[in-house]
Amino acid sequence: MLTKLTLTEARAGLAARKFSARDLAKAHLDAIDRLNPKLNAYITVVPEQDVLTAADAADARYAAGTARPMEGLPVGVKDLFCTKGIKTTAASKILANFIPPYESTVTARLLDAGSLFVGKTNLDEFAMGSANITSAYGAVLNPWQRKGDEVTALVPGGSSGGSAAAVAAGLALAATGTDTGGSIRQPAAFCGIVGLKPTYGRCSRWGTIAYASSLDQAGPMTRTVADAGLMLEAMAGFDEKDSTCSNRPVPAFAQAVGKSIKGLRVGIPAEYRAPGLSPEISAMWEQGIAWLRDAGCEIVDVSLPHTKYGLATYYIIAPAECSSNLARYDGIRFGERKDAATLDGIYEATRAAGFGEEVRSRILMGTYVLSAGYYDAYYLKAQKVRTLIKRDFVEAFEKVDVLLTPTAPSAAFAQGENMADPVQMYLNDIFTVPASMAGVPALSVPVGLDSKGLPLGLQIIGRHFDEETVLSVGGALEAAAGFAHTPTLHAEAGA
Ligand code: GLN
Repeated sequence: MLTKLTLTEARAGLAARKFSARDLAKAHLDAIDRLNPKLNAYITVVPEQDVLTAADAADARYAAGTARPMEGLPVGVKDLFCTKGIKTTAASKILANFIPPYESTVTARLLDAGSLFVGKTNLDEFAMGSANITSAYGAVLNPWQRKGDEVTALVPGGSSGGSAAAVAAGLALAATGTDTGGSIRQPAAFCGIVGLKPTYGRCSRWGTIAYASSLDQAGPMTRTVADAGLMLEAMAGFDEKDSTCSNRPVPAFAQAVGKSIKGLRVGIPAEYRAPGLSPEISAMWEQGIAWLRDAGCEIVDVSLPHTKYGLATYYIIAPAECSSNLARYDGIRFGERKDAATLDGIYEATRAAGFGEEVRSRILMGTYVLSAGYYDAYYLKAQKVRTLIKRDFVEAFEKVDVLLTPTAPSAAFAQGENMADPVQMYLNDIFTVPASMAGVPALSVPVGLDSKGLPLGLQIIGRHFDEETVLSVGGALEAAAGFAHTPTLHAEAGA
């Protein structure tokens, strides 16, 4: 079962020559052939010949003893990272024909570490969404099904839904994601995998298509916490091309997993006990608290009083930044163009035809809150509240080392649910947005199944640039939970 391995196992198997990088690549391409028509996890699959040529080069490095940390490991890349010579769409019609002439910093580093890219994964258009239903290339199907219900199609979460579905279903050993308000963590929880949003500034944003620049952060989506550490090591680090990228050294993240967490203080924020939180999620959270207590942690009640303003301020700041970032798609320099008699006419026709409904609505919201008469009332106010949210975290981390919360307020929901009312959809981000606003690292770990047989995740939030403690605690939670379930559709993949 080459498609069910962890990165760490696959790396060891390749090094021991138990199988070749070509075998591993072929198993993944076969699984993609079989399952992608159903899941729609990839927008673009790298041509077989290119993947196999790269796999042969990886095999040569193993033979020569020069294999790098991710040598020959099949990875999916969210279609928001520019990949040189490989179409990059952001799941938008406006970039349907865009083939970047350059490689994003994060993907360049993954290639330098030896990763084998098998394809570009589907997402919500320009990463705006929580269900992967706004893609111009069709919705992604969650490989998980409700117990005894093979009819209801579930969403994989979003916006990195294609990456989450691909990793869960065996169409990649790991994938990149991006997280602006929860887009790595929520789909990871919905698909029963691990997702890590690093500290803002840990990974370079250069060459990643921008949504909301003060929030966007790339991170790994993997099957285990140790794999997330391994992959983050390959992705992170200073980049002079991104002025917000930190120059702190990149620690050996994978080594943080397995370290004793005895004596660590784990904060439980009162405000996350939201009214209406499902009893099953509450119970899972209690279970998580008990596991960490058993591992020797001290459990401390804390308060993050401005949590209640998180969503409202996020949905001002993110659209404001997106309205500015997406102004560049005017049909002149790249992407699709719709012709018209005047220059303004070209802009209007191109943007009206190229952007989907959710993207247009966010551009309108963002333009509104930035407009002269409303800037102080909305945007400036939201920025001030953001500072208060960040301060809540900084103060909490004077008392505790990490925070433990649920990742999402529900398990994966059905395609068609939560669709009529955008606010209902935005509520999905209630537990993930505050860490994004504060810029702190946060990890989602799958810890169990609900009564319908769907995965649930818990979130560990840490101090700025302290991914190591987050990974240590995540590793302990993973070990206690022993989550070893795979979705129905993964079993079908064979190989
Ligand atoms: N669901 C949130 C949004 O739609 C978060 C998306 C993200 O993190 N990219 O903005």
